[in-house]
Amino acid sequence: MSPTYDVIIIGGGMIGLSTAYHLARRGARTVLLEAGELGGGTSAACSGRAQTIEGHLDPLNLYLVRAGLERLSTLEDELGHAFSWRMVGYFCLIPSPHLWDTWTQRARILSENGIPTVMVDREELQRAEPLLNTAGLLGAAYGQEGLLNPFHFCWAYAQAARRLGADIRAGTPVVGMKAAGGRVVSVETPAERFSAGQVMVAAGAWTPKLLAMIGETVPIHFTHAEAFITERVPLALRNTIGMADFYEQIHGKQRAVSVGFSVEPDGALLVTEAVTRTDTIRRGCSVWGVAGMAAHLLALYPGLRKVRVLRGWGVPTAFTPDDEPVVGPMPGWENLFVYGACLETIPTIPVLSDWVAGMMLGEEPPMDLSLYSPARFARAA
Ligand SMILES: Cc1cc2nc3c(=O)[nH]c(=O)nc-3n(C[C@H](O)[C@H](O)[C@H](O)COP(=O)(O)OP(=O)(O)OC[C@H]3O[C@@H](n4cnc5c(N)ncnc54)[C@H](O)[C@@H]3O)c2cc1C
Repeated sequence: MSPTYDVIIIGGGMIGLSTAYHLARRGARTVLLEAGELGGGTSAACSGRAQTIEGHLDPLNLYLVRAGLERLSTLEDELGHAFSWRMVGYFCLIPSPHLWDTWTQRARILSENGIPTVMVDREELQRAEPLLNTAGLLGAAYGQEGLLNPFHFCWAYAQAARRLGADIRAGTPVVGMKAAGGRVVSVETPAERFSAGQVMVAAGAWTPKLLAMIGETVPIHFTHAEAFITERVPLALRNTIGMADFYEQIHGKQRAVSVGFSVEPDGALLVTEAVTRTDTIRRGCSVWGVAGMAAHLLALYPGLRKVRVLRGWGVPTAFTPDDEPVVGPMPGWENLFVYGACLETIPTIPVLSDWVAGMMLGEEPPMDLSLYSPARFARAA
């Protein structure tokens, strides 16, 4: 049996790593077990956007986004590692009158809550993005958001946690867990057995598989999401672009494309997402996905016709039936915590993971987190 820790975290994505950092800051003896490479699940494969205007409008999410963005602005210094943090403009393109109305209301609520959002009509949008084909668009909602390099973001948390004494292990899959008397009594890797006061499962799309080891369930589902990156583009693209009908486009479909893209510091475009409904975790991109995203991109920016795709990828992306995260102790367990399936992950975790680390050590979170509690699924059932 390996030394007893205060907390075992299973999963080395941005959620597990940020929580490990905040636990270590509080002096908790923490071990993080990651099956593959740190960030190598969904985290390092994401676009790196700290979205501000697209999420839920409840007070908790609005607070987390606002406070998270503020924290992100100084986090590179706090963690001692750069992750290309920058603020950029974001245009959420609006193709229908119904979405124009919805977004007009959203823009008002967001602005009233400290997340300035303005509606811009088609002419104004065209002036801001001269090379965008605005045919079929009514305009856009516009806000400022953050962008970062997600691999370095994970690495920054990992290194800072290590410096504070956390034991962060890559290449260490959890292959078994044992439970007795409502407690997780051991967590097993091929080489070792661990025990701790608290166990957190932060394994993203793999969370249900981990919980199944102790006969537990949580309704975390996933889609397979593809993305690609291009060579440096010759056109001046100024803002991050996304579609207001993203969820409408992908909802209930076996396969769907809704394009969004951001400009990397070197001028390349990171383009997302081609989404496939699945119950099998896999990696990799398809001809369908890359061609579909390219076609949508070219419809918006015909001038990119000759730009080459350098690399594509596909990973699972986790969600819950109500699109709220799962954060909190599992009902019926003394020492089991689950954290994952955030809708807006990067802007919220700098603050949320701090609160979660405190909760695992017995602190009350500054705001009520029952909206995210795993217990809501038991109540719903
Ligand atoms: C194309 C794309 C673009 C996205 N863009 C954005 C964006 O711009 N902004 C944003 O906020 N979010 C974005 N997301 C979502 C974001 O990437 C995820 O919400 C986030 O990465 C989830 O982090 P996580 O730590 O929960 O999961 P993961 O990063 O998947 O981490 C879970 C880890 O658990 C590990 N694991 C699994 N099984 C075991 C085991 N048995 N033992 C040990 N470890 C195990 C996995 O290897 C994995 O590393 C995007 C997602 C995709 C797919």
